Amino acid sequence: MEYENKQPDEGINVSKTNHISDFFVLLTGTLVVLVLISVVVAFSVGWLARQIPFEYEKSLVSSFEPLIESNANSNLNTYIQELSNRIQTCSQFPEDMTAQVHYIDQEAFNAFATLGGHVFVYKGLLRRLESENQLAMILGHEMGHIKHRDPIVGLGRGTVVSVALSMVLGNSPSVLGDAGLLTLLSFSRSMETESDVHGVDVLSRCYGHANGSYQVFELFMSYRDEVMVKESMIPLFETHPLDGARIMEIKSYALEKDIPLTGELTPLPPNFHQWLDD
Ligand SMILES: [Zn+2]
Repeated sequence: MEYENKQPDEGINVSKTNHISDFFVLLTGTLVVLVLISVVVAFSVGWLARQIPFEYEKSLVSSFEPLIESNANSNLNTYIQELSNRIQTCSQFPEDMTAQVHYIDQEAFNAFATLGGHVFVYKGLLRRLESENQLAMILGHEMGHIKHRDPIVGLGRGTVVSVALSMVLGNSPSVLGDAGLLTLLSFSRSMETESDVHGVDVLSRCYGHANGSYQVFELFMSYRDEVMVKESMIPLFETHPLDGARIMEIKSYALEKDIPLTGELTPLPPNFHQWLDD
């Protein structure tokens, strides 16, 4: 048998279709793929954010850590640290996750959780607390945000994508250039509900009941009323619908999970309120 190297036919590299139409087919295809990727990223930013390891999230804010003033109020600090360690245990964090609670010596009636497991509580809020259980509810709520990765999700779509890219590409992210970002996170209503529920679970695990949970929102209600009176504002609503809704949700969750809303309250340390003014 004989073999021969047959010459290829003329014009095999010439497209049978028009170049211009090929170009448009490819262009349209590329655009469709890009639009699909954007849609997927837009709808899964929560998923994407939660893929970023907690350790990496911590490294993002490590440059801000020296700016966090250490609290010289040692009695108060010791108590808050001990309680927050217990709340962390009852929060059942994943192994690589830790939270750090910081006291802020300002009269604001507030507490918040932010990137890297940092939780801040203000003097103005602590001043009004009636039991340790209420403080545990507040810390439990904030640790719920940390456990659910809400701070990094709350950074928003663009920043989450930049952080994820910087992690994959191994360059240092400049996305957190503004320290203000640390306090400007916005959490959705459903994130708040999930964290309220987490607070109830924490109280139940730590104290065997959730007395003191919904009462935190009653404090918020009466605080808002006071501010309105002080600033001579006419309240738009007799009660504050959001606080009221949260109280109802907490009560119905506890009922559903068979968690008692009554039980012996643990008092705050005898000198707690005095420590605040030291
Ligand atoms: Zn919250």
